[in-house]
Amino acid sequence: MLNRSLAIISLSILILFSIIVFPVLPCLAVSPTEKNILIMHAFTQDYPVHEAFNKGLKSRFQQDYQYKINYSYEYLDLARFENSEDYLAETAHYFQAKYSNRLPEMIITSSILAPFLQKYGIDIFPGVPILVVSKESNVPIENISADFVAIPDGFDETVQADKNIQLILRTRPFIQKIHIVVGDSEVERELVERLQQVTDKYADKVQFVCLNKLSYDQMVEHIRNSSDRSAILFVRWNVDVEGKRFIPVQVLQAICRYSKAPVYGEAAHLLGSGILGGYVYNYGISGKNVAEVGLDILKGKKPSDISVTNVQVSEYVFDWRELKRWGIDEEKLPPGSRIEYREYSAWELYKGYIIGGIALLLLETALALGLLVNRSRRKRAESELIQLNMTLEKRVFDRTQELQDANNQLTIAQELLEALNQQLDLTSRTDSLTGLYNRRHMEERIQEEYEQYQRTGSRFALIMADIDFFKKVNDMYGHDVGDCVLKSVTEYLRKSVRAYDIVARWGGEEFLLLLPATNAENAVGLAERIRKTVEEHKCFCKGEALSVTLTAGVSVIGREDTIGSIIRKADIALYQGKRSGRNCVVSFEGISNIEISGPS
Ligand code: GH3
Ligand code: MG
Ligand code: MG
Repeated sequence: MLNRSLAIISLSILILFSIIVFPVLPCLAVSPTEKNILIMHAFTQDYPVHEAFNKGLKSRFQQDYQYKINYSYEYLDLARFENSEDYLAETAHYFQAKYSNRLPEMIITSSILAPFLQKYGIDIFPGVPILVVSKESNVPIENISADFVAIPDGFDETVQADKNIQLILRTRPFIQKIHIVVGDSEVERELVERLQQVTDKYADKVQFVCLNKLSYDQMVEHIRNSSDRSAILFVRWNVDVEGKRFIPVQVLQAICRYSKAPVYGEAAHLLGSGILGGYVYNYGISGKNVAEVGLDILKGKKPSDISVTNVQVSEYVFDWRELKRWGIDEEKLPPGSRIEYREYSAWELYKGYIIGGIALLLLETALALGLLVNRSRRKRAESELIQLNMTLEKRVFDRTQELQDANNQLTIAQELLEALNQQLDLTSRTDSLTGLYNRRHMEERIQEEYEQYQRTGSRFALIMADIDFFKKVNDMYGHDVGDCVLKSVTEYLRKSVRAYDIVARWGGEEFLLLLPATNAENAVGLAERIRKTVEEHKCFCKGEALSVTLTAGVSVIGREDTIGSIIRKADIALYQGKRSGRNCVVSFEGISNIEISGPS
């Protein structure tokens, strides 16, 4: 555990060390060699070109960790003392005193100071190599030092003007005039002549107005009155026609203030003063180019071996604010154009956040909408479910009702069927003429009674009764009267028996009575009572009053009896009665030596 912690701490220290130390390693690799360089400018520090040049120069030197450069600066004032020999001599004297004991290892200057160096240079700076930015590439620079390198400044004002005129026509194709701001110094007059050749090329496309023959005030007035369908090309304005000297930047600022048309310039350091931009000379690039050669010399290359040609120091640069002011689309600018002073809108600055925010907002809105839709769907589904439930409940209720009704009807039908069955059963067990039980029912009842006898020993008796000479009734009165007599006798039988006795029509005019829990004596008594009742009562049929009698045989169940035997016994007793003369009751038990035969 401890080892692991130590390992993590060591690794952390190593990473921290790497982060801090690696970026400075190139510097530590070799300790830089100190070099003293004198930068000598022709004009005062007010000249912005000097500052731009210095910056470019130093930025290139700083990239090389091999050297630590100590810079000395000298700014002459040739604008004011251009032709003053005294000034130059005094300056030389001053330099002599200043640098005799500590000569710089290299001098960087411009060809404007070539005459000065030719005259005094070798004496003041013996053996010091000089790098000269050659303003006039065609003017030979000689005798300024033992070792010097002329570096062309790459600034050709006719090329600058040509490119800028093309640029104006490209970005403002509708303009009618181009006002060229150029002064009237000797150099400028010579420049105007050269510019003439350039403007001639575009004479058929646009009209050129060169302002070199106007005083400063007239020039400003001219600019003030210029149409917005024109463009201003600021070339330079050092001296006006009246011989007055001017600082170009201040002139330019005045022009930009009054102009109704965009002002195109030719130097990068003028950007920000109100000019739109243009194909501009960049003194910073010039400084870098010079530093490049300077490093070669510091590293030991001989100045005489160095030859610099084709330097590129101009580029298309524009002031974003002026592009907006004049409504010039960036698309119209030449490829590779650089834009400065760009102001970013809140949209440009926070585009990512805004898009992200809107996307988040949209997402949240979509989610909220989704939830709302879901909720409303759920509610609808719930209400549909409730509706469905209610419908189902109603259907179940209706169906239950129907089933209940059907059940009720079934119950009624069952009851009806039962009643019908009972009726049918009764009918099947009843004799239709007399309404007495029929033979089938009587057989079942005897079976039951027999079983009970076997279980309990409760004895029962049978009476078999038959109407005497009934055939004669039929023969004498007809069959209908016979039927009527049968019914009348039935009534008498019913009235005569006890409630629990069973009476059945056993055959045509033959009746069988079952007497439960009855012995022979009681059975005979009952048979006798019946016989007597029939005998004593008349049958009233179809206007006839008829008297009939009946004969009865009685048998009582005994231990050895079967159902068949007990019935046969009653039958035997009955026929015994018939043989005895009829209208009597005979008990089987009273008959001796009678053999019982037939089915058991
Ligand atoms: P016995 O005294 O010996 O019994 O003489 P009987 O005439 O009564 O007996 P028999 O057996 O000779 O005749 C019975 C008659 O009963 C014959 C038959 O036509 C008649 N009979 C049987 N059933 C019915 C019926 O349902 N209606 C009518 N009217 N007559 C019937
Ligand atoms: Mg008979
Ligand atoms: Mg009979």
